[in-house]
Amino acid sequence: MKTVIHWFRRDLRVSDNVALAEAARRAENVIPVFIFEDAFRTGPDVGAARLAFLLQSVEALRKNLAELGHTLVVRCGKSEEILPALAQETGAQCVFANKRYEPYAPRRDERITGALLKIGVGFELFKDAVVWEEQEILTQAGKPYTVFTPYSKAWKARAMPPPKPRFKTSNIQHPTPNTQSDALPATPGECGHPLTQQIPAGGERAALELLRKFMARPVYEYGTSRNFPAVAGGSNLSPHLRAGTIGIRTVLAALKKARDKAAGAEAIKSCETFLNELIWREFYAQVLHNFPHVTKGAFRPEYDRLQWSDNQEHFAAWCAGRTGYPIVDAAMRCLNATGTMHNRLRMIVAMFLTKDLLINWQWGERYFMKQLVDGDLAANNGGWQWSAGTGTDAAPYFRIFNPVSQAEKFDAGGNFVRRWIPELKDFPDDLIQQPWENPLLLAKSKYAPRIVLHEEQRGKCLAMFKAVKG
Ligand SMILES: Cc1cc2nc3c(=O)[nH]c(=O)nc-3n(C[C@H](O)[C@H](O)[C@H](O)COP(=O)(O)OP(=O)(O)OC[C@H]3O[C@@H](n4cnc5c(N)ncnc54)[C@H](O)[C@@H]3O)c2cc1C
Repeated sequence: MKTVIHWFRRDLRVSDNVALAEAARRAENVIPVFIFEDAFRTGPDVGAARLAFLLQSVEALRKNLAELGHTLVVRCGKSEEILPALAQETGAQCVFANKRYEPYAPRRDERITGALLKIGVGFELFKDAVVWEEQEILTQAGKPYTVFTPYSKAWKARAMPPPKPRFKTSNIQHPTPNTQSDALPATPGECGHPLTQQIPAGGERAALELLRKFMARPVYEYGTSRNFPAVAGGSNLSPHLRAGTIGIRTVLAALKKARDKAAGAEAIKSCETFLNELIWREFYAQVLHNFPHVTKGAFRPEYDRLQWSDNQEHFAAWCAGRTGYPIVDAAMRCLNATGTMHNRLRMIVAMFLTKDLLINWQWGERYFMKQLVDGDLAANNGGWQWSAGTGTDAAPYFRIFNPVSQAEKFDAGGNFVRRWIPELKDFPDDLIQQPWENPLLLAKSKYAPRIVLHEEQRGKCLAMFKAVKG
């Protein structure tokens, strides 16, 4: 082919990018394009943190491409209108893109295929964001998996594909034509999302640097350290895997290298644990695709009959970090300030919302999507349904985290809580996770009193679930 448009979507990088590598292999001239969709401005799920991360990452992509001698064409509006117009303007024969897996994506891609076909332009999609897609790993009966362990075994039994080569100038024989670009909003504020958070750095370089640092040492301790919010035990790659500023094959190749060098059983086990987390990501992606009803309700439909509370005050207190439970409040304040939250804390606050405040998991799911830099429909929905006990392979409904014992186990001494709740600075280590045990000091501290009592709410929660289970 003479000219191909590569449309960047959730793949904002030049290395290990399947569609981009294919475009470079098959076309003489590749035109890199990013479309700033109207939905970024108005979508109910798009928050300032994710938007800022996206804007930073597009800017980084523009620089990376410029270093390779290419100009990123940026257009604002609707992709199904912009792509045909751009194809005509540039004489492109085909548009390449990497596949997206949200339930609405195929419908949009069909509309784009139709619009391009009308002018004789092709549209090709490639598997890139995941190693194995929704219909590639099925049970012996040919059905999608709904339990993680057998899914992960089947996943691991397959050979891993290597990373794709980096996009190079030498792949291209003709320079990109001088096609005009629209200006991107400089800040999320320009789209009506004021950014008040300190979010992680976007872009491919930042992602590769995180990967390098994580594989140098933390990966070998990951099995243990991943559970402690005050320790930087995780890879922090989730916003990058979400925006596609790093390729999954690159992460897996680095993990394999690290595993080959691992000294001792614990280090090897930690590498395995990290691999499992990456597989959870694909597990939930295939659940979302194969069971799209999860976006509207419980994976197990009987749980749509649960009589949740609609206590707006409790919900507002949870969102703002004013429930009176330090670990819950510290986690929510961290989310609100940084757009990030540690995995252990996500489970604690999600269980607290659903099983202590008895509020529908979908309220929490929506709030997370709006706040999180890594907000991903599949992983977020999966995490919420797991915590609420309504999902595939979920924690059983009678598994209810006690926020105090969780905090004493995973934030003993309260290092994480102290970072986010200055009101509690004078509390001793042994009381910081249950400040109500010293009422005088609590009153002096101005920290919120508990809005519910865990022991009472536990019984109510069990009754609520039993009512629908019969
Ligand atoms: C209620 C709830 C909501 C969640 N919402 C999201 C979300 O919107 N986006 C998101 O990426 N993750 C979500 N998770 C999963 C998990 O909390 C984050 O992926 C993790 O905290 C990111 O930190 P990390 O990059 O250091 O992860 P690491 O521990 O380093 O794990 C490596 C990668 O594996 C993937 N991963 C890890 N755990 C999970 C998991 N349980 N499910 C799916 N993928 C996983 C992520 O891509 C992550 O970057 C949610 C979990 C819960 C309980």
